Amino acid sequence: MNRQCSRCQRTFTREDFLSEESRNLEADRKAARLQGVHFFDYRCPACGNEDVFLDVVRLDGESAEAYAARKAELEATARRVGAERLEVVVVKRDGAPE
Ligand SMILES: [Zn+2]
Repeated sequence: MNRQCSRCQRTFTREDFLSEESRNLEADRKAARLQGVHFFDYRCPACGNEDVFLDVVRLDGESAEAYAARKAELEATARRVGAERLEVVVVKRDGAPE
């Protein structure tokens, strides 16, 4: 999946992935018992912007409506967080379960 910088539209590469930060975010996620989401943190080498990608994965037995509602809720939360610290991009990943 292509992930782009929300500021300059540059496509992120594997080298831009912040594994340490992503691990911390994942730890926070588990502590908050958030299911069906995964965090990926990237820093853009071109403009210095930091983007957090929040992948929303459809849960087993979750209806399309519940999934959409959950994504909308996460987007609202992401906007609040983003206003304070960094950009959060919510990505709907409606594929086969991992
Ligand atoms: Zn950038």
